[in-house]
Amino acid sequence: MDFSSDFTMTIDGAAHRGEAFIDVLNPATEAVIAAAPDCSREELDAAVEAAGKAFPAWSAMPFDERRALLLRLADALLEQVEPMARLLTSEQGKPIADAINEVGGAAMYLKGICALDLPVTITEPEDGQGRVVETHHCPIGVVGGIAPWNFPVLLGMFKLAPALLAGNTLVLKPSPFTPLATLKLGELARDILPPGVLNVVSGGDALGPWMTSHPGFGKISFTGSTQTGRRVMESASASLKRVTLELGGNDAAIVLPDVDVDAVAEQLFWSAFRNSGQVCIATKRMYVHSKIYDRLKDALVAYAATVKIGDGAEADTRLGPVNNRPQYERVLDLVADAKSQGYRLAAGSEPERGPGFFIPVTIVDNPPEESRIVQEEQFGPVLPLLKFDEIDEAVARANASPYGLGGSVWSGSEEGALEVARRLDTGNIWINGLQYLTPLASFGGQKQSGIGVEGGVGGLLEYTVPRTFIRNRV
Ligand code: NAD
Repeated sequence: MDFSSDFTMTIDGAAHRGEAFIDVLNPATEAVIAAAPDCSREELDAAVEAAGKAFPAWSAMPFDERRALLLRLADALLEQVEPMARLLTSEQGKPIADAINEVGGAAMYLKGICALDLPVTITEPEDGQGRVVETHHCPIGVVGGIAPWNFPVLLGMFKLAPALLAGNTLVLKPSPFTPLATLKLGELARDILPPGVLNVVSGGDALGPWMTSHPGFGKISFTGSTQTGRRVMESASASLKRVTLELGGNDAAIVLPDVDVDAVAEQLFWSAFRNSGQVCIATKRMYVHSKIYDRLKDALVAYAATVKIGDGAEADTRLGPVNNRPQYERVLDLVADAKSQGYRLAAGSEPERGPGFFIPVTIVDNPPEESRIVQEEQFGPVLPLLKFDEIDEAVARANASPYGLGGSVWSGSEEGALEVARRLDTGNIWINGLQYLTPLASFGGQKQSGIGVEGGVGGLLEYTVPRTFIRNRV
């Protein structure tokens, strides 16, 4: 299989070249690296129809047989990690080592989901009638998966794995900024899954809304911004499609005064800047106790100076560019706003003139809580460092957000950290560590960070509807 050209959609198990195309850029060079199909309405209809046609046989297939086919797909992906990762770096910008982790991680995620089973609940009401009440979980039908550009392969897999294991069929749409690796994943699956079970379509801005309003889908599983999530939910409501929404965040890290500053500085740096800050669960506000504020700030700034920013294809690059021009301009606008308000930058300089959407690591030194750089999700290599004196105050500031995705607490005492963590209004909280996720546990946002979860049995159940059988004795 050639990973560097010939990008086709997968519809009903076959390649579809499309009639129109979208350009895909390498964000490190701004050069056009490929043309991806721009799916037409008719091609989307064909994909939904193929998925609908494949559903009866796929959903009727014994669970273990579906599991075995999906494990074959995971192994096929593991065999292609290197070329797939090179392709991912070229369209997404991330360093090649991170791309390898993403592609390998996606295959391992699929394996992890395949270890799950759907529960059956059996109850026998004590009403003297001997009735048996059984609740099973049935697949929904055709699912539409819509993914963002920050982790295209992994977040696409977050949808593919549970949707297909539970017995649904899928039409998966990557972001127009990063369609290539996902198109190749579809190609890889053609020889493994029955036709129509996994369809992969790519296209421009019209394609997502076509999907959310298409009557052929029973569910939309969406990962992206909160703003778009609202539109998805509104559009899906017309035919009461089920939705899972994994949306934006403004995660706070709370760093308590008893941490070993030198030991945690590097981890704290990566909690904010991994993937150039383009991580939904990146630390986007770092609250640091005043006793250690200056020492930690100095340690972060010193560490930042050692991190090479560049083309992700170069082996020693640790941070790549921002993925696309609109995001690049958004992040630069936030930095310009901080500067125009007179906030001090502890780290950061003018971005070099292109090509490439490169932004230097920028640390804003204790800006006001109400500033845009604190209140908005930056989704780029920019971090406000914020001073606090009382833990209650830090918790209140962390919780005063419409988002509720993740957060972290850092302390020399695990118990002390847990006590603070229990008070945070978010779906995921890391204690003294980076953003670890596992297919065996539920991940999801509270408040405006989302609806529903991915991962774990809870995530698998999101791709099912309950069906209860009430059996009366004859
Ligand atoms: P986005 O919302 O702009 O786009 C996400 C996807 O939705 C893309 O495939 C896009 O083409 C599609 N889309 C755009 N408009 C649509 C519409 N009206 N209807 C249907 N689909 C539409 O998000 P993005 O810029 O690609 O990603 C960044 C955002 O995603 C950040 O806010 C980040 O926090 C969030 N995110 C969340 C998670 C999570 O798990 N909670 C994970 C990664 C990223």
